[in-house]
Amino acid sequence: MIMPIARDFSALTWSEVAALPNRDHTVLILPIGAIEQHGHHLPLKVDSAIASEILNRALTWLDPSIPAYALPLLPYGKSNEHLGFPGTIALSAQTLLATVMEIGESVYRAGFRRLVLMNGHGGQPQVLEIAATDLRVKFPDFYTFAWFVWRGAPGYKRFLTDREGREGLHGGVAETSLMLALDAEAVRCDRAMAEYPKLTGGDGLIGVKGPTAAAWRTEDLSRTGVVGDGTAASLEIGEQLLEELVSGWVELITAAHRFEFVGHGEISEDPNLQGP
Ligand SMILES: [Zn+2]
Repeated sequence: MIMPIARDFSALTWSEVAALPNRDHTVLILPIGAIEQHGHHLPLKVDSAIASEILNRALTWLDPSIPAYALPLLPYGKSNEHLGFPGTIALSAQTLLATVMEIGESVYRAGFRRLVLMNGHGGQPQVLEIAATDLRVKFPDFYTFAWFVWRGAPGYKRFLTDREGREGLHGGVAETSLMLALDAEAVRCDRAMAEYPKLTGGDGLIGVKGPTAAAWRTEDLSRTGVVGDGTAASLEIGEQLLEELVSGWVELITAAHRFEFVGHGEISEDPNLQGP
């Protein structure tokens, strides 16, 4: 079920923004999704829907004393690995980086000092981590955080089989189940499929994710667009994932409100070992 937007930043007037107390400790969260193929059974909007709906629920449950607002969803992302399938609409890494930097600069100019980039698409954490660091370097009193939405539920793979946890990259059990919990009518269950990548010659060292992965286009791994098992999804798994993700994001947003760097640890008295 799609819910009304909680703590909607875009619903404020400029004078209400100007009058907000504690702007420097108010957390603004930018959900960033993608419009990209997710197999025959899931709509293009999956990553966008997951980011914005988890955020919306987390902000509904957040302690009212924690100041936080949802920025409007950035629905497009860097999805060029899926461009072999029609319907995918992709920004380049450069465009996504520039867009997020300029949103961050506007947020900073308005007096906010805490920005969470809440990413729903597995193909762009690197770009958003660069944006977070570049904003921090440009504005040294700006706290910026780039977090993948699934990091809200670090133990979620226990709901999946070992193989699905390893190779279920896209449109598999996790995403399909979560969509059943968020928006069941959007899932074409009768068209769900299972398809895992076939690889050879990597001697067990080279896979499709992890520190020694090969770069891939979706058509290297899949004919259906699914990498994983969409047929093993269930509403029950989806509701468990949803509950964990929402409570995890309540904690992450609370932590983003409180987090501070407070100087440095013990260092040597030797002046040659001091930093800049
Ligand atoms: Zn996805």
